[in-house]
Amino acid sequence: MESPSGKLVHITTFGCQMNEYDSARMLGILSELGYAPAESPETADLVLLNTCSVREKAQHKVYSFVGALREVKRQRPGMIIGVGGCVAQQEGRQLLKDIPYLDLVFGTGALERLPELIAEAASGRRVACTDLDPGPLAPRRVALANPGLKAMVTVMQGCDNFCAYCVVPHVRGREKSRAAAQVVEEVAALAKAGVREVTLLGQNVNSYRDPEGGADFADLLEMVAGVPELWRVRFTTSHPKDLSPRLIEALAGIDKVMDQLHLPAQSGSDRILKAMRRGYTRARYLALVKDLRRRAPDLALGGDIIVGFPGETEADFQASLELIEAAGYDFLFSFKYSDRPFTKAIDLPGKIAEAEKSRRLARLQDRQREISLALHRAQVGKLEEVLVEGPAKRGTGLMTGRTRANRAVNFPGPPELAGRLVMVRVEQGLVNSLRGKLVDPA
Ligand code: SF4
Repeated sequence: MESPSGKLVHITTFGCQMNEYDSARMLGILSELGYAPAESPETADLVLLNTCSVREKAQHKVYSFVGALREVKRQRPGMIIGVGGCVAQQEGRQLLKDIPYLDLVFGTGALERLPELIAEAASGRRVACTDLDPGPLAPRRVALANPGLKAMVTVMQGCDNFCAYCVVPHVRGREKSRAAAQVVEEVAALAKAGVREVTLLGQNVNSYRDPEGGADFADLLEMVAGVPELWRVRFTTSHPKDLSPRLIEALAGIDKVMDQLHLPAQSGSDRILKAMRRGYTRARYLALVKDLRRRAPDLALGGDIIVGFPGETEADFQASLELIEAAGYDFLFSFKYSDRPFTKAIDLPGKIAEAEKSRRLARLQDRQREISLALHRAQVGKLEEVLVEGPAKRGTGLMTGRTRANRAVNFPGPPELAGRLVMVRVEQGLVNSLRGKLVDPA
């Protein structure tokens, strides 16, 4: 892409969808300053790293990524290197001390101030901004010139829940919802530019509250589904303690809201759930799942499980294994517990050895693979509405798309189908995807 100012920016994103969204916002802000995207960090004038500190590994990646730029910066001292996101929020000025060739540190609340921060860094000053309050959440400023078929839209930021293991409330601040009208306006602009599916994002979308009109998340889903050119709406993440009957109704009743829900349980043991401060029991969680299945039988459910939380016994872990079975997850994000700064769990006794955590994770993932495979095999013979994304990465002549339940499906078909809704008959279920045959190419 041509840059009006001749300047190039490269943004690397670690972590969650929230970070990907923030990176898109950064690119929007920077394109207004005349920056165009660079192919690689080595060729960029401005290199930004949008970081995540939720997992310890992600944090290590930050240091090695920035370390790899040391030589480039030595050869091109005019290049500006900045670290943003959760690690920046958490470490602040310490990052400037640790990394002598780093120019800029900007926290999760500093995105809108990027232009002035970059100008300061360009003048040779080393800058750190970790003011957590983002002020009113600004409308998205993305280049709408080729936004693709799918987009993410943040509806709220931050979290008030303070789960014992989680760094998010400490690095993203308290919950703050965007005005519903602003969200709808953004979705409408995206849809006009060709986006057909949006995913509404928040750490806990169930506690969304329109600061202007008081609409809740179920209302917001209805408003977004009312955007004419938009075909599909998804959302993530839902906290089980706040999943309201109204939201279940919206999920089941609004046709454009897809058959998919990510409902992280984190553990199947009441003792561990209490220590995690999750605010629900195993029985309550499974009752919700039952309710969901009753109202929305085609729903694909996703979960999160943490293994090796402090004090987790073999029996607690067994309870998690039983929970994933009972919930019948289509997909599962599973992690080993690790101490995160500022969190309550750091001080809990009964830390689990790394080798044991790895063993439990492997057992959990093995079991989940079997569950996913069985669920996907049970789809064989079904007729699915598929939004075609483009040619499949593997397999010549194959196209790939997503069902309403967000299952990836590959099927033979011409490239012209990209961007269209088609009907596909499922012929084979694999662990991570389906194979099928086009039924209605029209
Ligand atoms: S709900 Fe809990 S796990 Fe999720 S972001 Fe908030 S504190 Fe973290």
